[in-house]
Amino acid sequence: MIKTIGVLTSGGDAPGMNAAVRAVTRAGIAQGMEVKVIYRGYKGLIDGEVKTFTTQDVSGIIPRGGTLIKSARCTEFHTPEGRKQAYETLQREHIDALIVIGGDGTFTGGSLFAQEYDLPVIGIPGTIDNDLWGTDATIGYDTALNTITESIDKLRDTATSHERVFLVEVMGRDAGFLTLNAAIAGGCEAAIIPERAPILEQIEEAIGSGRRKSKNSSIVLVQEHAVEGGAATVAQMIEKVHPEYSTRVTVLGHLQRGGSPSAYDRILASRMGVAAVQALVDGQRNVMVGIQNDDIVLVPLSKAIHQKKDIKEDSWEAMNVLSI
Ligand code: ATP
Repeated sequence: MIKTIGVLTSGGDAPGMNAAVRAVTRAGIAQGMEVKVIYRGYKGLIDGEVKTFTTQDVSGIIPRGGTLIKSARCTEFHTPEGRKQAYETLQREHIDALIVIGGDGTFTGGSLFAQEYDLPVIGIPGTIDNDLWGTDATIGYDTALNTITESIDKLRDTATSHERVFLVEVMGRDAGFLTLNAAIAGGCEAAIIPERAPILEQIEEAIGSGRRKSKNSSIVLVQEHAVEGGAATVAQMIEKVHPEYSTRVTVLGHLQRGGSPSAYDRILASRMGVAAVQALVDGQRNVMVGIQNDDIVLVPLSKAIHQKKDIKEDSWEAMNVLSI
C-alpha cells in the first residue's frame, strides 16, 4: 500500500503546474497519504530537497504561473549513478511512489527510473508545447496560446500602421501546435512549422499570401526550430527575394511561458492531479494521465514518449484557407 507520495515539476515550467501540485497534495491527503514535494525536479531528488506539504502549503497558488516547487534540467539524472542517488533519497524519505509533472524528457527519465527501481511513477503532462501523444491537451498550452494570440493582436496594430511584414517566432521545441493554432487565432497570413515540409515552399507561400491579396501588412508565425536561425533567417530570405518588403522580427521568447493560468489550464491541472493520485490508489504504474474528448485517460508512459503526435490536418487547412 502506498503511504507516501513524492511530487515534482521538471523541464520547462508551464502555467498551471501549481494547480497540479495543489491537486496532487490535496487529493493525496484526502486519500490518507503523506505528500512530499521535491524541489527542482530530478535535481532536488538527487540532492534530497524534500518537504512534506500540508493543504495550507498549497493554499492560494492556483492563480500563480511558474512552479512554486521550482523546476530544473538535471544532467546527473541521465546517469545510473545520479538515479541511484535519487533512489536513496526516496528510501530515506520513505516515498513509495512518484508523480512527475513535465514534458517528454521528464517522462523519459521517470520511466527509466521506474523500471530500474520497480517504482510506481505517474506522469502529468505539463508543457506549453502540447506535443505529447495520448492527450488532447497539456497543462500550460491553453494559457501560452492565449498569451501568443494577445501579442499578435498588438503586433497587428503596428504592422498595419507601417505596412510591414512581421515575422513572429513562437516556441514549441519540435512541435508546431502553438504556432499553427496561434496563427489561426490571430488571423495570421501564414505559419511556418516543422511538421509541414518543405519549409522553403512554406516561406514562399508565406511571402505571397498576404501581399498578393493586396493586404497592407502580414504577420507570419515561425516555429522556433522550423528553420535554422528561426524568424531572423526567414526575414533575411524574404528581403533577399523581395527587397521591396520591409520586415520586422519579434521573438516572443519566455513571455510565452509566464502568466496566470487560464481557467482551462487550472481545471485540466486539477482534474489530472486528482486522477494521478487515484491512479496510484488503483495500483496503476508507469502511466501518463491524459485527456481525450474531455475524458481523463491513462496512457502508458512508453507510448506517450515514443509515439509522435501530429497536428490536425483540418487545422492546417483552415489556417491556409482563411489567410486569403
Ligand atoms: P519541456 O517539454 O517543457 O522542455 P521536458 O520534460 O521535456 O519539458 P527536458 O529538459 O527534456 O524537459 O527533461 C527534463 C529532465 O528530465 C531533464 O533535465 C533530465 O533530468 C530528465 N531526463 C530527460 N531525458 C532523460 C533521459 N533520457 N534519461 C534520464 N533522465 C532524463
